[in-house]
Amino acid sequence: MARSCPRCGATVGRIDDDCPACGAKLDGRKPWYIWLLGGFLVLMAFVYLGDLSSLGRFAQTLFDFARGVRGGTP
Ligand SMILES: [Zn+2]
Repeated sequence: MARSCPRCGATVGRIDDDCPACGAKLDGRKPWYIWLLGGFLVLMAFVYLGDLSSLGRFAQTLFDFARGVRGGTP
């Protein structure tokens, strides 16, 4: 869903800071999910670059736990 410029009425993107048509300054607030997405990307980059092996071990632990709970007493 697009916004429109309050000065000239041109259609502007949701995350644009100023109007591409007339250059008017728009409401600078960005939707909350932009920050969530940014944080998620940073987190993924951190995991990917830094500590992938420990993430793997964590996933394995969760998997073993889930399997143990499901098939504990046959
Ligand atoms: Zn404009």
